[in-house]
Amino acid sequence: MASNRDYYDILGVPKGASQDDIKKAYRELVKKYHPDLHKDDPEAPRHMAEVNEAYETLSDPAKREQYNTYGKAGAPGFPGASQGWTPGYRGSSDTFGGFDFGDLFGSFMDGFGRSQATQQPEESPRGRDLSVGVTLTLKEAVFGTKKEVQIRRYDTCATCHGSGAAPGTSPKVCPTCGGSGEVRQTQDTIFGRVVTAGVCPTCRGEGRVTDSPCPTCKGSGVARVDKTIQATIPAGVDSGMKVRIAGQGDAGKHGGASGDLYLLITVQPDPRFERRGNLLYHTVRIPPSKAVLGTSVDVPLLEGGTEAVTVPAGSQHGTEVRIRGKGAQTVGERRRGDYIVRVEIGVPRTLTAEQRKLYKQLLDLEK
Ligand SMILES: [Zn+2]
Ligand SMILES: [Zn+2]
Repeated sequence: MASNRDYYDILGVPKGASQDDIKKAYRELVKKYHPDLHKDDPEAPRHMAEVNEAYETLSDPAKREQYNTYGKAGAPGFPGASQGWTPGYRGSSDTFGGFDFGDLFGSFMDGFGRSQATQQPEESPRGRDLSVGVTLTLKEAVFGTKKEVQIRRYDTCATCHGSGAAPGTSPKVCPTCGGSGEVRQTQDTIFGRVVTAGVCPTCRGEGRVTDSPCPTCKGSGVARVDKTIQATIPAGVDSGMKVRIAGQGDAGKHGGASGDLYLLITVQPDPRFERRGNLLYHTVRIPPSKAVLGTSVDVPLLEGGTEAVTVPAGSQHGTEVRIRGKGAQTVGERRRGDYIVRVEIGVPRTLTAEQRKLYKQLLDLEK
């Protein structure tokens, strides 16, 4: 498929052509060879593939320089095989950044003069995002942690390294669609000529085909594997949050970028604490006498251990005692919030004879 013609010859531009000249030449050749415009020409897809390959190399200054120096042998990978030479179809403009296809296809449509319906091919070169639930203790959520997460995902096939081609062979531009992944059909109706676009049946929208598919992955370039991911969970997460682990989702078909992995966080409730943002609450219950006279109580800390807290004399029901910097944390904050001890006064439901006598004496004093 890939011819040995010089890329400059294919595009019909001199070696020193500017990027603008190259773009212009490419545009003209697309009009000349695009398979959708030249359905009667069986050679059109082959020409188009050749033109795409040349343009992809020469429109990229780095690839062009490499080509000038080493020729095709120096071109990395398979230059004609990249996805989406027509961003209008596939939404990928990475390779052809800055090339305005809008008016190009505008002129095609003017040529047809009628309407068109476009259907986006479903395949995306990027792998799917995956998500997995992760349950944390409150302590893990506040301080951050590392977790091993088991997932099943598509990884790049180890046999073909993602190309989908059997070892020793390489995929090539689909001859049916010229690499676009899409075929168009033109129909004359009473409303005029209607152009409909569909996924190319030969390559199923991938834009390239493999003569001898990789036996391991049957040509998809990816294989399903069970994986254990070491996930770092930042300090301060809370229930309902998603933590993104970049690049750990499904691998893209044919060497496309991997999707991301999202950890869906659930924090187990801790009966000792209530968390509100970066504040941590804990409730202590003391008898009236301690509230009146003041006392010291040991409260549990999230990091472990306890701390003695002074409840001042004359504390009311609902008095709050604050311990700075021993509370919770929110993502992105460096400092911990405060730990707030809520004081509740527990009125005794039963009294000993002695207590009853003393409360009566108090009562007499307060009259
Ligand atoms: Zn494979
Ligand atoms: Zn195709």
